[in-house]
Amino acid sequence: MATRRVEIAGTTYGFDHGAQYFTIRDPEFRHALLPVMGAIGVWADGAGEPSFVGQPGMSSLPKALADGLDIHQGVEITALRRAGSAWHLESGSGPILARHLVMTMPAPQASRLLGLDHPLSPSLDSLGIAPCLTLMAAFPGELPRPFIHLSSETEPLAWIAQDSSKPGRHAGLTRWVAQASPDWSAAHLDELPENLAVRMLPLLAAAIGAEPDTAVYAAAHRWRYARVATPLGEPYLRADDSTLWLGGDWCLGARVEAAWQSGTALAQSLARHLHAA
Ligand SMILES: Cc1cc2nc3c(=O)[nH]c(=O)nc-3n(C[C@H](O)[C@H](O)[C@H](O)COP(=O)(O)OP(=O)(O)OC[C@H]3O[C@@H](n4cnc5c(N)ncnc54)[C@H](O)[C@@H]3O)c2cc1C
Repeated sequence: MATRRVEIAGTTYGFDHGAQYFTIRDPEFRHALLPVMGAIGVWADGAGEPSFVGQPGMSSLPKALADGLDIHQGVEITALRRAGSAWHLESGSGPILARHLVMTMPAPQASRLLGLDHPLSPSLDSLGIAPCLTLMAAFPGELPRPFIHLSSETEPLAWIAQDSSKPGRHAGLTRWVAQASPDWSAAHLDELPENLAVRMLPLLAAAIGAEPDTAVYAAAHRWRYARVATPLGEPYLRADDSTLWLGGDWCLGARVEAAWQSGTALAQSLARHLHAA
């Protein structure tokens, strides 16, 4: 649930360059969201089932859910190992010691940190996770709106959405987010983001009926691990030594709601473990 903030001609605009919207089907998910409904809006996108979004950006929802928690953002864990009964983590801001470890990054990244010889690594590596190259582009004023969002099974751009049509967004520029298909993304994965933006902008412009050179902003983002094709089918993994849990959307499905279900089941397991200890 990512929102990229960009300054264009002195004004800050947001682009939801990750998840576009989310569903609320699980009654427990609905219940968990009740305290943060102020950070959620319904996107009037014409779909039958309500499409929920964070507002003013998708990242507003996780921010609201995390309010009051002691979270250190922007700290990459670069290595980990067992040190007696503790976990020793290496990070850019120094070592961290922990008795329990929960890993919720994409499965291949978790496997890399655990090491190929870890008993859980084969399960993590067996999940194929497709990349997604994403374009963010802005055009001046109110463009004719050919659609709010459009999906395609055959075009290089598999999803195009008028991001600025979501509720609570800054008015002024018409902003679009376009996601390349898994095949197109895999074929162009290692190109520089600047080159990708040049390559993707004309595809977007053609789809929305605009001239590419009228765009006032265009940038690409590379999601290397975007969509799990076949999820694990269990809400989380727990190592035999019982101090390590792994979860994330790759467990139940590549959707915000499935990520929440995984995290919640994982947290309940951890709480039971701590209670019993
Ligand atoms: C392009 C795209 C479009 C999508 N569209 C939709 C949609 O429309 N609707 C929908 O429901 N879902 C959508 N999804 C899926 C949805 O975004 C995910 O299912 C959900 O966000 C996954 O949450 P998560 O917590 O499992 O993982 P993530 O949100 O991927 O969180 C993993 C976190 O781990 C961090 N991390 C990784 N490695 C390390 C490390 N070494 N040290 C520290 N931190 C680390 C990452 O920075 C990241 O913050 C989309 C995803 C993508 C990529």
